[in-house]
Amino acid sequence: MRQLIKNVHILTIDEEMTEISHGFVLIEGEVIQAIGAMTEKLPAADTIIDGKQGILIPGMINTHTHVGMIPFRSLGDDVPDRLRRFLFPLEQVMTKELAQASAQYAVAEMLLSGVTSFCDMYYFEDAIAEVVAQMGARAILGETIIDMPTCDFATPKATLAWCESFIEKWHNHSLITPAIAPHATNTNTPEDLAQIVVLAKRYAIPITMHVAEMTYEMEEFAQRYQQTPIAFLNDLGYFEQHFIMAHAIFTEPSDLELLQSKAHLVKVAHCISANTKSAKGVAPVKEMLAHQWQVGLGTDGPSSGNTLDLFTQMRMFANFHKTYEHDRGLFPAKEIVALATKGGAKVLGLDHLVGTIEIGKKADITLIETDSVNMFPIFDAYSALVYSANASNVSDVWVNGRQLVANKQLVAQSVTTLQENLAQQMTEFVEEAKKRSEEVV
Ligand SMILES: [Zn+2]
Repeated sequence: MRQLIKNVHILTIDEEMTEISHGFVLIEGEVIQAIGAMTEKLPAADTIIDGKQGILIPGMINTHTHVGMIPFRSLGDDVPDRLRRFLFPLEQVMTKELAQASAQYAVAEMLLSGVTSFCDMYYFEDAIAEVVAQMGARAILGETIIDMPTCDFATPKATLAWCESFIEKWHNHSLITPAIAPHATNTNTPEDLAQIVVLAKRYAIPITMHVAEMTYEMEEFAQRYQQTPIAFLNDLGYFEQHFIMAHAIFTEPSDLELLQSKAHLVKVAHCISANTKSAKGVAPVKEMLAHQWQVGLGTDGPSSGNTLDLFTQMRMFANFHKTYEHDRGLFPAKEIVALATKGGAKVLGLDHLVGTIEIGKKADITLIETDSVNMFPIFDAYSALVYSANASNVSDVWVNGRQLVANKQLVAQSVTTLQENLAQQMTEFVEEAKKRSEEVV
């Protein structure tokens, strides 16, 4: 099937950052077949979509989230040590059905906001993979491995053993990449972390983990190992294969120096909204990029960052990093849109497939309408995306050539139904959450 998207302002995010102010894109099957200006002869197509001068960009890439955590959204947001007071205890009442209903809702939310690929770490990840595959999004999915009993497995050893069957099941899927997801450097034993990297290397699959996120994690590593968590992971061989580090807030100058020779293998999921909402800090992204680290944007879970769209991340990225470095000219909008698309693709190791609008790439594409009140005037399309637009401006989304969002609606599902289903699964969770909220600490 040939689909023609015409009358669009195309930001290709290719090597030259080519921009076509009045153009078209032809999708054939799963792939981008042609790109051109409206002054050229338009190719024939089975379906024609009039973009009405909206902005067409590569699908956005959320490099770190937890799609099973929608039930936690807005719960105890301003409470100190929320992780131990709410998250860990409430995850004990998480069920497969709840995680799955949450994942469906989260994927719908991401698609409607123009996110086409994401990297997830949670529990019941096989059930999550089933719904992600069925909904048609592109994802890297890893079951959380943590040194405590979870809603899913009694021990980290049992989780690790199960991971092999999960990897084998999803290894050759066109949209899903199985991963291994140790929770964090300080919530897994060194022995388990060592085993995990061996398994990841054996299957040549990614690892994703929270790294250098907590002040107590940094203190613990300094005391126990006289090392940073990044240096510790380097000794275990984590930077010899595909490793997606979430956060890396407390990256030290010594870490940047240590990884100099393997900088191209260092991949960071930078979650500015979650990191600043929890008052943890701002990762030194300017230095990371200067050292050739790969950086993409991530929302973190809906409990930590609340929204799952990258418009929020792009805006916060601009505001925080400019303020942090006292430099208005730092990170112009063009660079931030590139981080949300191509940058994320590099972090997820999907840049050979997606992240740019180029002939031969998979058709993962997002169209942002420019009719809404907040989108006028537009002197610079990149600026409009970073500083004016929000998730509700996304009108159409394609993944792998399949149109999943049309005119701001999911093509195959209704959000109302997904929400009703999730609310139904949340009954016990809500009871527990209320009890925890009322507890005096
Ligand atoms: Zn996280």
